[in-house]
Amino acid sequence: MEGCNKKIPLRTDYVFSDFLFFWCISLVPEVIACVAIARDSWLWMGIYISAMVPFMFAEVGFLCRHCPYYNQLPGRTVHCKSHWGPTKYFKPKPGRIKTYEKFILYFLFARGFAFPFYWLIQDPLLLVLYLWSIVNFVWTYAKYECPRCLYFDCPFNFVSKEAKKELMAQSTAEKDSNRG
Ligand code: SF4
Repeated sequence: MEGCNKKIPLRTDYVFSDFLFFWCISLVPEVIACVAIARDSWLWMGIYISAMVPFMFAEVGFLCRHCPYYNQLPGRTVHCKSHWGPTKYFKPKPGRIKTYEKFILYFLFARGFAFPFYWLIQDPLLLVLYLWSIVNFVWTYAKYECPRCLYFDCPFNFVSKEAKKELMAQSTAEKDSNRG
């Protein structure tokens, strides 16, 4: 079929269905974890869900602030795979993500991943579904999204060196033609 083997173009912006798709696949592990925890304790399920809120703010503060999509629209609006609407909680800070910010993010991801294990290991079926849904999510993004994302400094960015070089050359050429 024509077009099937074409390179996937880098993403210049997002549409609402990208946002819905991200949330559809990224919420599956959390829902499975909630089911496993709620079978034992509704209180702990509430704690699990509440722990997500500071995590989301930390993600915006340490990762998204440096992202070009975060800074793309005026005002507080962000349109990307995981934000849609007035979600610019912190001032954009274009530039490199710091090493300590990466470590905080890795720590928070690891903590979020490990939190429900106490309950999941009590139900092997839910444990398998939890791990499977995470593999599906990571695989989908690593294959279709991260290799085309303009946030080159993100620790999960997979854009090839050639594509980055091509883009840099294009933007330098554009700048030169605007000057001339
Ligand atoms: S694309 Fe990723 S890093 Fe950029 S603003 Fe959206 S969630 Fe944050």
